[in-house]
Amino acid sequence: MYQFPEHLLGGYQKFMNGRFAEQQARYKTLAETGQQPKTLIVACCDSRAAPETIFDSGPGELFVVRNVANMVPPYEPDGQYHSTSAALEFAVQSLRVKDIVVMGHGRCGGIKAVLDSGAEPLSPGDFIGKWMNMLKPSAEQIAGNDMMTAAERQRAMEHVSIRNSIVNLRTFPCVQILEQRGKLQLHGAWFDISTGELWVMDPKSGDFSRPGT
Ligand SMILES: [Zn+2]
Repeated sequence: MYQFPEHLLGGYQKFMNGRFAEQQARYKTLAETGQQPKTLIVACCDSRAAPETIFDSGPGELFVVRNVANMVPPYEPDGQYHSTSAALEFAVQSLRVKDIVVMGHGRCGGIKAVLDSGAEPLSPGDFIGKWMNMLKPSAEQIAGNDMMTAAERQRAMEHVSIRNSIVNLRTFPCVQILEQRGKLQLHGAWFDISTGELWVMDPKSGDFSRPGT
């Protein structure tokens, strides 16, 4: 028998009685004036690393694109389907966001898959395998380093995926131009699911540290 997931209906009721009731005026204004978020977040699909939750943000505050392993592909105007590039184009050119944050996270399944060279495709299409190929050159180097522990390799690769996305962001002419004009800033961040720690990437060195520490 058909059943819409009950936990979603329950959550929705709570939302209507809670957050929506409290912020009704804000939702109404947003509906009338449109969204004007100042921040684009590129995050992973992982259910444990939802940007709106982590940054405690309300409606209209964050423009979020999520994909496996928080990746931005390079600028490729080739007529193929590019969902992340489409979201990026809209955020930068239409919404004129001021900041783009690429947020990775600990225990990322996509990263684990790219480090595991023996991983079998999940389906004949092997969409994850092909998507993660973007990180293959770095992953092969890190996976082959047996002086690192598995946890160190995983963490290093999670950081690499963030830096790689930032490098690829700069292949988009609109990003490059606006960044040069000082109208757009690019940031990297990494969220540790187990402790809740947020680590922020130094834009010059690429190292991650905890803000305020
Ligand atoms: Zn992930």
